[in-house]
Amino acid sequence: MDQRLEGGRSKMNPFEAVQLPRVINAAGKMTYLGSSAVLPEVAAAMSAAAQSYVDMAGLKQTVQRRVAELTGAEGACITSCAAAGIVVSVAAVLTGTDMDKVEALPEIKGTRREVILQKGHAVSFGANLTQMIRMTGAAVKEIGTVNGVKPYHLEGAITEATAAIVYVVSHHAVSNEMLTLAEVVETAGTYGIPVIVDAAAEVDLRQYLAQGADLAVYSGHKAIGGPTSGLVIGRKELIDACMLQEKGYARAMKIGKENIMGFYAALQCYLKEDPEETAGRLTEIVETLQKDIEHCGLTGISTKIVKDATRPIPRLQLIVGETAPLEAKQLIAGMERNNPSIRTRNHSADAGMIQFDPRELKIEETAVVAQVLKQLLEG
Ligand SMILES: *Cc1c(COP(=O)(O)O)cnc(C)c1O
Repeated sequence: MDQRLEGGRSKMNPFEAVQLPRVINAAGKMTYLGSSAVLPEVAAAMSAAAQSYVDMAGLKQTVQRRVAELTGAEGACITSCAAAGIVVSVAAVLTGTDMDKVEALPEIKGTRREVILQKGHAVSFGANLTQMIRMTGAAVKEIGTVNGVKPYHLEGAITEATAAIVYVVSHHAVSNEMLTLAEVVETAGTYGIPVIVDAAAEVDLRQYLAQGADLAVYSGHKAIGGPTSGLVIGRKELIDACMLQEKGYARAMKIGKENIMGFYAALQCYLKEDPEETAGRLTEIVETLQKDIEHCGLTGISTKIVKDATRPIPRLQLIVGETAPLEAKQLIAGMERNNPSIRTRNHSADAGMIQFDPRELKIEETAVVAQVLKQLLEG
């Protein structure tokens, strides 16, 4: 049997036990699809940890110290996800290392209780960023408009009550016309206000702290490719305050030993990755998919390889023309209903475009995708 048609090794479906179809993930590292399928060595580290006991305080302390060394940061705090990392970071600036303040949240014992956020950064990543901030008891002060923030908006918003500025780096955020991180860091610095960067899905673990951010928050299950987990890195005294939150807020966002070890294993693999090799692998998948689809000669369908706006990710763009028998949205629905269910990036479906992301797509799955497209379009 042709391995490629079968979908090869990835045909295995652990979710059959609960009657859910296997997903062919051409959408990317999406939380709603389970983010990352971890490498075998990561799965092995998780499995071993899950079947054993360990001194949890010692485990966290040791792994966090090593993660700080690996990322070049003063300190690191591992959390259950990036959203938890944002809550913990904001809580940390509100409480410092005062245990009484940690336990009092969401009652804030102190005058600094406002978090500034540029309007174009008030994103939803499946939940609203502003809600994560407000959970701590802090108030969000949005500045400017969705399509324009000027330095005077920031200057004018800073008062005695300002606890932090949250800065979002993401394709979800409006990036044009917002203040740059450098501008925000400079103004924050003159007032001694900490800057927290939400870089949940970004690939670079050093650049935001290097640019002067006090804390940077990452998802462990996006670029890093770990199990569900999160990472906060940055200034030592703020990281100490982040860690203390596990005796307060973060208890409701607990990460277990297996995910700590899985995250650590994934981070080590991630840092050893050769960017050129990764880029080559992604390009090969995208080009193979393009060939497989072109080979079907589908009426009204054309393809083009496009690049992500900020990250080195090539994607295949399927353009559904007027002469195609189905509209983009019908095609998306058909792929989703298929077993295995094929999931794509659909931000531009209204404009007749569907994108295929290679990061979680396996090369042996491209032929299946092309075959399903052919079935849907030619009946
Ligand atoms: C995905 C994402 C989050 C949330 O990350 P989780 O680890 O899933 O909690 C937060 N902010 C941004 C910008 C994201 O893209």
